[in-house]
Order: sequence, then C-alpha cells, then structure tokens
Amino acid sequence: MTELRRLENLRREFVSNVSHELKTPLTTIQAYTETLLDGAINDPENNRKFLERIDEQAERLHKLILDLLSLARIEAAEDAYELLPVPVANTVQVCVDEYLPVAESKGVELQVQPPSEALVVWADDEGLLTVLNNLLDNAIKYTPSGGSVSIRWHVEGRRTVLEVEDTGIGIPKQHQSRVFERFFRVDKARSRELGGTGLGLAIVKHWVQVFGGTVEVASELGRGSLFTIRLPTVSKSSA
Ligand code: ADP
Repeated sequence: MTELRRLENLRREFVSNVSHELKTPLTTIQAYTETLLDGAINDPENNRKFLERIDEQAERLHKLILDLLSLARIEAAEDAYELLPVPVANTVQVCVDEYLPVAESKGVELQVQPPSEALVVWADDEGLLTVLNNLLDNAIKYTPSGGSVSIRWHVEGRRTVLEVEDTGIGIPKQHQSRVFERFFRVDKARSRELGGTGLGLAIVKHWVQVFGGTVEVASELGRGSLFTIRLPTVSKSSA
C-alpha cells in the first residue's frame, strides 16, 4: 500500500471514530430530552435525574471537542512551535496545585519528588502543563482510594527524565503499546464513567514529539503504571 493510501485510510478511520464518539452522548441527550417532553417533566421522581444525565452528557461532548481542538492545534503548528526554556519545577507546581484537591478528595496520596538542582527543559509551558495534567489526571483516575501517585524528575545525560508513577489498576501487557492511540481505551465503559475521552495520551504523545522528546509506559496489571518522559535539557550555558 502506498503511504498516501495509508494516510487516507487513517484519516477516514479517525473521522469515523470522531463521529461515533460524538454520536453516543448526543443520542443520550436526545433520548432524555424526548422523555421529558413526552411527560416525564411532570414526574417529580425522575425529572431531575434526567436533567442531570443531559448535563453529564453535554459536559462529555464539551470535553471531547476541547480535546479534539487541542490535538488539531498541535498538529497544525507542529513544525512551527518555538521552544523556550521551561523550568520543570514551576510547571509541576501549577499542575500539583490543581490536582492535589482531586487526589485528596479521592483518598489518593500525591507525592512530589524534585531533584536537588533546578532543571530547565526546551518546551512550551502551556504544552508541558497539558502533558503533566493529562498524566496526573489519569494516574489519579485509575488509582483506587488508598493508593498513591508520585511525580519526580532528574537529569540523565542531556535529557531530563520526568516520571509519573501510580499504584493503580495497571494496563495489560498487550494493550500498553496502544494507549497513545486516539480513542484507544482498555475499558471503554470505565473510562467514560470516569469522564475520559480517550484522547489524553494521544495529546501527551503529540506534545512530547513537538518538544523533540519521547514518552513510554511500563505497567503491571493490578500493581500500577509508570509513564516516563524524556525531554531535551537546556544546558546551563544556554539557560
Ligand atoms: P482516557 O480519557 O480514557 O483516560 P487516555 O488517552 O488518557 O484516555 O488513556 C487511554 C487509556 O489508557 C485509558 O482509557 C486507560 O485504559 C489507559 N490508561 C491511561 N493511563 C492509565 C493509568 N495511569 N493507569 C491505568 N490505565 C491507564
């Protein structure tokens, strides 16, 4: 198959996946709206519950569209991004401030383990924040209460290695290479229930590529997952 043909197939598959993903919440919204219009609006036992379902599904559509826009924006500007020095500790702090209350309310311990020296990487600060947010969001989402999530970073040669580790449900071996694909989810129903779109890790991978870095996962089912990102370190002389 020619490269062009392969890309065309990928595009078609993507459009079909997007349509399907958008259709599911929309169908639910329509069904509940019709039920309400058909009389359930006067049923005090259910009317509020139905409106809450509509609200949930509208929120899901909203998230999905934001993630799709985010992917499209990275792709459109992939070669044109101006990478700037970003101090890792600052971005981690912003991310942790946002997720600490989420972790606490779920009973998951969130640990930050910074290195002794300040590290600066070539990245885009919003982009790096999106990467960390998505990894932390997943780590907390897929870790049951009582577990823990750690975020740490250190330098290794010319690269800065960032790790997000959790003691959660883990990812089966056969699926580990696929989790960065758009819309791939180990357990669709569970991801949806937790508010996932299936796009978080695809966005992570795109950003890391823009930064000239790599991302990989190591995981054991039932024991936890470790996501490792390697980014170019800004050398002390050019910082
Ligand atoms: P989602 O919105 O479904 O979380 P992602 O692209 O962020 O989508 O992740 C894809 C899938 O990878 C998830 O549905 C889940 O099955 C799996 N996954 C991602 N992160 C973790 C993690 N920390 N622990 C266990 N499974 C994970």
